[in-house]
Amino acid sequence: MKAIAIFPATKEIQLIEHPEPHIEHPEQVKLRLLEVGVCGTDRHICALAFGNPPANYNYLILGHEALAEVAAVGSAVTHLQPGDLVVPEVRRPCTDSTCRACQAAHQDFCQTGNYTERGIQGLHGYMAEYVVDDARFLHPAPAALRQVAVLTEPLTIAEKALVQALQIQQRLPWQTSAATIEEPGRGLTAVVLGAGPIGLLGAMLFVTQGFDTYVYSRAQTPNDKADIVEAIGATYISAETTPIAKFKERVGQIDLVYEAMDAAPLAIEVLQNLSRNGIFIFTSGTNPSQPFGIDSAASFHNLTSQNQVVIGTVNAGPATFQSAIEHLEVFQQRWPTVLPKLITERYPMKRAAEVLLHKPGGIKHIVTIA
Ligand SMILES: [Zn+2]
Ligand SMILES: [Zn+2]
Repeated sequence: MKAIAIFPATKEIQLIEHPEPHIEHPEQVKLRLLEVGVCGTDRHICALAFGNPPANYNYLILGHEALAEVAAVGSAVTHLQPGDLVVPEVRRPCTDSTCRACQAAHQDFCQTGNYTERGIQGLHGYMAEYVVDDARFLHPAPAALRQVAVLTEPLTIAEKALVQALQIQQRLPWQTSAATIEEPGRGLTAVVLGAGPIGLLGAMLFVTQGFDTYVYSRAQTPNDKADIVEAIGATYISAETTPIAKFKERVGQIDLVYEAMDAAPLAIEVLQNLSRNGIFIFTSGTNPSQPFGIDSAASFHNLTSQNQVVIGTVNAGPATFQSAIEHLEVFQQRWPTVLPKLITERYPMKRAAEVLLHKPGGIKHIVTIA
């Protein structure tokens, strides 16, 4: 079968022939891959910044943001059948029996660091015609989400951030009297840093959760991303034309910051303007070669004197995949013409290298497998 692989020794991305996998255990499922999203992680792997092929392979099949169709199920699989759409999780648990996180199916919080990740670390990814996976790592998606369910994995980042923010902020009476079960963020302000796929999906999530949502990003208006932000009822503000002091003046209270922009200096400026009791969530790796520019004394003084929380988050567990699929349905009902605009272009497998080596303009780029 065909697959897209990176050969680290030669730094080449190739469309290869790879043996088609077969179900070997009753709890396994054979998947026919439909679409795989490309993100910065894939480009970092292709630049050899991180990632490793599985043992005994000199190549790694790429791709972790997948949408697949069930092709066949093992005899013990009861909740899936051929034809079902599924979104697979990325991370697989470590084998250390003392890792409480992995033992509890929370491998996104793996304590040993010895986890594997499809298409990233030690396991082949989803840019292949077929993959065999354990059923427990697969999340069914409704057929109505066929065109957008490939956005599930990038949305899980925001889902995990939101769950943690709501849990952590139970340390105080954070929610306002306007909050409801469905819209816990009513009366609170969320700032999303960055208008890439992670940022825009995050903005959609915060809007549906009732937050007064602002997206603070570099590009000047008008631009396509700003149009999407405005169309979902959030506010786009350009960091080029609105420096942080003016931004703070316009936004007022900043209760939550969801960072998804890979630009540490601006993130730190916003952190220094976080409101009392606020929470700041870092999701991007930030560029290690870029100076952080942190006024550490002032930032740390605020943390303590203003009860602030800064967290980092990566990857996502089973519950967040489930909630991401449910929220994509909400997004589709609420913004049927806007949501598909997050996908800028679909590339056939033979053109995958183009989008893996260079980031084209636009928002999300997808490799079509079938
Ligand atoms: Zn990704
Ligand atoms: Zn673990």
